[in-house]
Amino acid sequence: MRFLSTFGQLPGTPLNLVVIVLWGMTEGLGLVLFVPLLALLTNGDSTNVDPPFNYIIDAFEFASVPPTLNAMLIVISILILGSIALGYCQRYMLVRSKQMYTFRARRSLMENLYFASWHHISSQSHGNIINQLVTECHRASNALQFELLGVAAAIQVTIFMVLSAFLSWQLMLITVAFGFLTFAVARPLQRRAKVLGEQTNQANYDLNFYGVDFLRGSKLVKVTATEDVIVGRLGQYIKELFNVSFGSELNAAQLYFVVQALPVVLLAGLIAFSVHVLELGAPIILVFLIFLARLAPKVAHLQQQTRGYSVTSPAIRLIKEMLDTSSAAREVTGPSSKPFQRLEHGIGLDKVCYTYPSGDGPALNDVSLSIGRNQIVAIVGKSGAGKSTLIDLLAGLRRPVAGRIDVDRVDLTELDLRSWRHQIGYVTQEVIVFNDTVRNNITFAHSDSTAEDIERAMALAHFAEVLDSLPDGLDTVLGEGGVRLSGGQKQRLALTRALIGNPQLLLLDEATSALDNESERLIQHAIESIAQTVTVVVIAHRLSTVIKADVIYVMERGCVVEQGTYEELVREGGRFAELHKLQFA
Ligand code: ADP
Ligand code: MG
Repeated sequence: MRFLSTFGQLPGTPLNLVVIVLWGMTEGLGLVLFVPLLALLTNGDSTNVDPPFNYIIDAFEFASVPPTLNAMLIVISILILGSIALGYCQRYMLVRSKQMYTFRARRSLMENLYFASWHHISSQSHGNIINQLVTECHRASNALQFELLGVAAAIQVTIFMVLSAFLSWQLMLITVAFGFLTFAVARPLQRRAKVLGEQTNQANYDLNFYGVDFLRGSKLVKVTATEDVIVGRLGQYIKELFNVSFGSELNAAQLYFVVQALPVVLLAGLIAFSVHVLELGAPIILVFLIFLARLAPKVAHLQQQTRGYSVTSPAIRLIKEMLDTSSAAREVTGPSSKPFQRLEHGIGLDKVCYTYPSGDGPALNDVSLSIGRNQIVAIVGKSGAGKSTLIDLLAGLRRPVAGRIDVDRVDLTELDLRSWRHQIGYVTQEVIVFNDTVRNNITFAHSDSTAEDIERAMALAHFAEVLDSLPDGLDTVLGEGGVRLSGGQKQRLALTRALIGNPQLLLLDEATSALDNESERLIQHAIESIAQTVTVVVIAHRLSTVIKADVIYVMERGCVVEQGTYEELVREGGRFAELHKLQFA
């Protein structure tokens, strides 16, 4: 990104600038005072200096302080100490601003991400999110710091130039010309820095993306004995990051040496020029050289800051893009100010269609069905038929592209979605287990649950038996991804979690698929018993699970092809009867 194109994004930029200007001016003034001081030291008289430095003497006289050596030394010391103090203030403010930016960027990234639609969240790469959250936020804040420090250096260089113009405008002009020459020499290095910045983006992204991706599949890696392949591939990304990081640091060092070496040539030339051609007095030349000595590191600084900005600023763009896309994908919840409380009649789907933005054809096609209050409704069909998609639509995670879903005759899109979801218990085939205690896993969405609530839900989901085998009972920490539990145990945990808030609607998407027949039968009974007070939508592969359903919908390629009770469907001899024959043959 171009230098200054993001200026002002760092919190507290204006105040920082004020302090920077004051800092530069105090230091400059302190140095200017050296002119009468040196005149006093060389001639024994400080009042006999050329304009405009005679104003300094006038100022002393105006304040009724005799311009003696001691008075001057005291004022110079105060000014220079003051400038050091201001320098510290500026540092303090800058560090704070930078950390503040990182803090806010990270918070916004998380907030925008979690409040975005499910479609947006589910299409994000985990590695990329971690990369942005950790690495790129850090780089972006560094970029903004470089930018502000660059502006600070530019302001100070300008102040010093103006003040040195009072000493000798000819010398100042030569210095400026030399400054431009330095920039021109350093230009190719600056360009390279920019390229390296973009390459660093890519290298960070790759390492994080594939690092997380392979970690997720580490069991497959072990069991297929492909450790060397994976380590080799990750090694390439690590090597790439090594190359760009090395190149980047080397580029900084090269630039630093160029900017340091060139002024040496200037120094000798300037002294000769001022003595032989301009015939300047010793105090002026000396103070000018002091200025130059102070100016050179500031110019070098300016150079370093703009370089640093080139390398790190691509991160600002990345973060901005991520913030923008996730905020554009923010989930719009219905205008109904009345939060959803309880299901009175039921849910109806009318000619609902859904196509995944990345999918080839419709995942749901003209699906019409009704789910009565406190009914058990089963959905069966081959995998890929659209069952899970239907569940996502019921939970409001995805919106139909055509048709409508009514909840008690109110369009789901008009409901306050979050209050609707608070009344849903949701269990999927892949159970989400947090690396936390059993208790916190169960009460995840209902932290106000009582011990009785937990007991009751655990009993219903037959999790109590599992709990007995855990060393610390409810306080057992389950490990990342719930490594302590078997597939079936995890599903019972998920069921407990789904039941704890006394949901109005229970969505079970192959929620008992990992259970053995005996456990499944127990849970089946539990579901039938709570169905007096809860509406249940259940997707199941094992048809024994759906015998007691009030109505079964059979889905195929996104359409409902049959509906009826278990007996009716078996009798009809259609698709369901076929599935039935396959399972019970
Ligand atoms: P089921 O749960 O019945 O096995 P799904 O509802 O998961 O089926 O999938 C229905 C169809 O939608 C399938 O053809 C599947 O490939 C497609 N699909 C599912 N999820 C996505 C997705 N995130 N992006 C694109 N297509 C998807
Ligand atoms: Mg599914």
